Amino acid sequence: MRREHRPRTRLVHAARGLAESGLSPGRSGNLSVRHRNGMLITPSAIAYPDLREEEVVFLDFDGRHRAKKQKPSSEWRLHASLYRHHSAAESVLHCHSLYATTLACHGLAIPAFHYMVAVGGGKDIPCCEYATFGGAELARLADETLADRRACLLKNHGMLVYGESLDSAVELAHEVEYLAQLYWNALQLGEPAVLGDEEMAEVVAKFKNYGTRGRVPAQ
Ligand code: ZN
Repeated sequence: MRREHRPRTRLVHAARGLAESGLSPGRSGNLSVRHRNGMLITPSAIAYPDLREEEVVFLDFDGRHRAKKQKPSSEWRLHASLYRHHSAAESVLHCHSLYATTLACHGLAIPAFHYMVAVGGGKDIPCCEYATFGGAELARLADETLADRRACLLKNHGMLVYGESLDSAVELAHEVEYLAQLYWNALQLGEPAVLGDEEMAEVVAKFKNYGTRGRVPAQ
């Protein structure tokens, strides 16, 4: 396999991209891809610009790994529960991006103020209840929130998405961050009008019919 196609290489490249784009500032956030009977995930406490391929950790869904120097991201449980319960999840991304986290700090979901909200798989991008970071309870709550969605906010914390590929997870996270910023902007002029459930059901169905394999459709 060519080097640039290796899962570790692609994960490192994508993680650096998250830092460069400002989506995942500092040492916050984590990114993984499904791999064999577990996942490859970014390690704890290493800033993405400094991340090397050998520092990416392979672990199974019970958290077992053989990495000696690196620890897997403290949020590995969030990732594991999504891989366990969503066969379509090939990549999971969690970050503390500015606008999504701003809304999450107020416990706000992103309502159907714009039809593109359907990229999250439903009529809104919900906000999951708060639980301590890194814990099994947060993983359980997030898994519940994402039962029929692929993107949500985490109250007083950040954003969580999954995609059918590494690229689609990254793209979806950027889209959710943009929608969060747009909603924040719209709120400056008062509460925006929200599309009805029927309208949104139509958009969700239309997105599914694009055959985009989880990628955000072009508008
Ligand atoms: Zn976090």
